[in-house]
Amino acid sequence: MTARTYFIGKRLMDDIVCKFGGSSVAEARQIRKVEAIIRSDPHRRYIVVSAPGKRSSQDEKITDLLYTCQSLAAEGKSYEQPFQAVGNRFLQIDRELETGSEIRGWLEELRRQLDSGASADLAASRGEYLCARLLAAHLKAEFVDSAEIIQLDRNDAVAESSYRRTAEKLAGPGLYVIPGFYGSDSHGQIKTFSRGGSDITGALVAKALNAREYENWTDVSGLLRADPGIVRDPQPMAQVTYREIRELSYMGAKVLHEEAILPVYEPKIPIHIRNTNRPEDPGTVISAERNSQVRPIAGVAGRSGLGLLYLEKFLLRKHPQYRSKVLEILAIHGVDLEWERWGIDSLLLLVPEKQLAEKGEALRGVIGEELDPDHLEILGNMAVIAVVGEGLSKRPDITVTVLQRLDQRDIRLRLIEQGSSRISALLVVQAEQFNRAVQTI
Ligand code: ASP
Repeated sequence: MTARTYFIGKRLMDDIVCKFGGSSVAEARQIRKVEAIIRSDPHRRYIVVSAPGKRSSQDEKITDLLYTCQSLAAEGKSYEQPFQAVGNRFLQIDRELETGSEIRGWLEELRRQLDSGASADLAASRGEYLCARLLAAHLKAEFVDSAEIIQLDRNDAVAESSYRRTAEKLAGPGLYVIPGFYGSDSHGQIKTFSRGGSDITGALVAKALNAREYENWTDVSGLLRADPGIVRDPQPMAQVTYREIRELSYMGAKVLHEEAILPVYEPKIPIHIRNTNRPEDPGTVISAERNSQVRPIAGVAGRSGLGLLYLEKFLLRKHPQYRSKVLEILAIHGVDLEWERWGIDSLLLLVPEKQLAEKGEALRGVIGEELDPDHLEILGNMAVIAVVGEGLSKRPDITVTVLQRLDQRDIRLRLIEQGSSRISALLVVQAEQFNRAVQTI
């Protein structure tokens, strides 16, 4: 049924893809919560899991331990200690859940793989692999190995054929468990995504099945409107659009894996962020549209650690090669461009402060020599803040209010920009004023 609906391109009636993050599968107690969530809705039929994460702040993530095992093995050193930690964790989960699985055999196989030169990708992927196997055994669900359905091409992009294969493999009527974080290359070798990549797997499966919703279960009750490290008790957002999330995460808000939006963006499958420890909480729905009249602003994010390069040159606009030359100089010096803004006769660039601290003087020399600017300023200690919301373009008064409030609190803006993205206003401030500015907004 599932595969067929995929082929005729219709949305599945009601099926849901659920991805459970590391904290949701960190131990047997958590996995029981996962089970209750799955059992409470028969439409939750496709379960993607991360590797067990930390049980407490001092604990270690299985994925980190596996990377350590692999690098020790590659150096010919003993990896016994981290391997024991991995093994003990899975054995304990298996014992407490009484899964009756073949966990001992799977761990032995992992040891053999490490002894025979397993790649870092293969080793790291075993966290998700074993977790999915255990959960499938526990739920009496079907295990489907991601290596058999998700293929990554030479540039690490997901091959289109992955979607068809996934839909075919998951076409039965039952419950499926799929490990996140990896697929395989064209030679059948395991390839992982970047860290946090189980979010991507969930999105790929949701797209392949044209699922009604992609539930992303984690340990927070949704995405917060601001960083709780800066603002006291920020509220979660009930709804946010894909575009808003892109802006907020580029600006430093820690949300989903960046690449998890793309697969669901075009088929408009909503992503629902939910809390495994508080399944009754509404969470945050990320979707193509939302009613921005009620809440024009979705959230505020920002980051410090930026440096600024400001150049003035009379008639700069008339010489577009000038800008390319500046970018080329930055690239040669290994300085990344975070953001740029042209004036009539000026150019302002934001770059990582650390790189600027190392290369600033060299840049000053080269730019001075090759481009002969009328004025060149290099400043460290900058921060950028984004006020993000679909309602921003229709409500210019919001930006005005933000600016007034910042001014009342003596927060000096180095730069204001609104318009290059219709849904965000960017403010650049001195790093010392960053927290206070975010709190004020
Ligand atoms: N286990 C992997 C990591 O720690 C992937 C994931 O959890 O999404 O990065």
